[in-house]
Amino acid sequence: MSLDKESQKEEAWCERLTLASARALYLHVPFCARKCAYCDFASRATASDDPLMAAYAQGLEEELRQAEAAGLLEGCETGYVGGGTPTLLGAQGLGGLIRATRTCAPSLLELTSEANPDSLSDAVLDALASSGATRVSIGVQSLDDGELAKLGRIHSAAEARERVGAAVASGLDVSCDLMCAIPDQTDASWRRSLEGVVSLGVGHISVYPLAIEEGTPLAARVEGLSEEDLEWNSSDVQASRMTQAQVQLDGYGYDRYEVASYARAGKACRHNVAYWTGQPYLGFGTEASSMLTLEGYLRLCRITPRLPAAPEGTARVRLTCRSGARRIASSPNLGSLDFDCEFLTVREAAAEDLMLGARLVRGLDPGLVAFARRVVGPQVDQALGEAQARGLLDAGLAPTQDGWLLGNELYGLLWDLAEAEPQTASTRPSGQG
Ligand code: SF4
Repeated sequence: MSLDKESQKEEAWCERLTLASARALYLHVPFCARKCAYCDFASRATASDDPLMAAYAQGLEEELRQAEAAGLLEGCETGYVGGGTPTLLGAQGLGGLIRATRTCAPSLLELTSEANPDSLSDAVLDALASSGATRVSIGVQSLDDGELAKLGRIHSAAEARERVGAAVASGLDVSCDLMCAIPDQTDASWRRSLEGVVSLGVGHISVYPLAIEEGTPLAARVEGLSEEDLEWNSSDVQASRMTQAQVQLDGYGYDRYEVASYARAGKACRHNVAYWTGQPYLGFGTEASSMLTLEGYLRLCRITPRLPAAPEGTARVRLTCRSGARRIASSPNLGSLDFDCEFLTVREAAAEDLMLGARLVRGLDPGLVAFARRVVGPQVDQALGEAQARGLLDAGLAPTQDGWLLGNELYGLLWDLAEAEPQTASTRPSGQG
């Protein structure tokens, strides 16, 4: 590539490091009908008539209005309401939140809500479509009742099929999450789950191996079991099921565009792609994370003066809201909430972008590689050469099959280019980094 072309590509990449407004917006809804056996996400079992949910949704709407007034949402192109189970808010609560999102971030091109089959009623689907959502992502996980029971999921396979079908018929873009390497799963039952969601006409499928997380009921259930007894979750089984999904979904016309994501033409999730391509994002709600440029952080500081000053040399800031759902419901003022912050230098930002970019099938963006070479130096080519020598990246700097299966090895190699962990600080006295 000529020097001119390379510097143009680098310039195009670097623009995202100076944007004052976020490009992507996330809203976290931390309520679920029941906790699944494997879940360590920021969510809690909540009765469907708990008034906290409506108050919390209104708190999020108020935060959106404050962010809009501060000019933080001007450039948002994608929005995502995740959880938890956003559909537990019901037609009125979720519809209101989607409408407020549309009003405060009018330039959204894609707006997704997560959903679970048991709370994705026709009324909720109507509310999603009429209030401006474009996409719904449904937690199916499996189409086998025995497997669903072992995971502690609240819905049946029949209910999942019926609700996914209704979502497709509603005209929204539909994605389904499926989980592999789970108890009782076989190659045949995994094939049937994949075939099942494909036959319902969804445009997007995400597949994940089950992770046994410490502190969950599933971890307690398997504690002390031998490797042999845990063979259903072994790395070999995970790898073979992920490969099986790739072969099967490729045959059905879905393109893998990220390690766990498959889409029909034009149906890739723009919001998730923003996360993997260094675009700044803003998250609202308890335990929601944001990633802002220094300019965006300074803008946020004007309405949240308790935020710590960014140290010299900061290029990017990651924040996580540590205030709970009750606090957000009762006092939805961004300036009074607690946040933990991480301050990344330009070198750390480059290493992070390389690590995240290696999740994408298209491989590392030439502009990103040029940027990383400039701020990190020759170690970038040494690390990329090492990844190629280990068979994790191909000649075009795209992940190989081994790169997918040994993702942590590849991501670790690239993150090591940061050479230091980001500085941390907190608005909480006990959370000082
Ligand atoms: S529905 Fe999702 S967020 Fe809620 S408990 Fe289950 S896995 Fe966790």
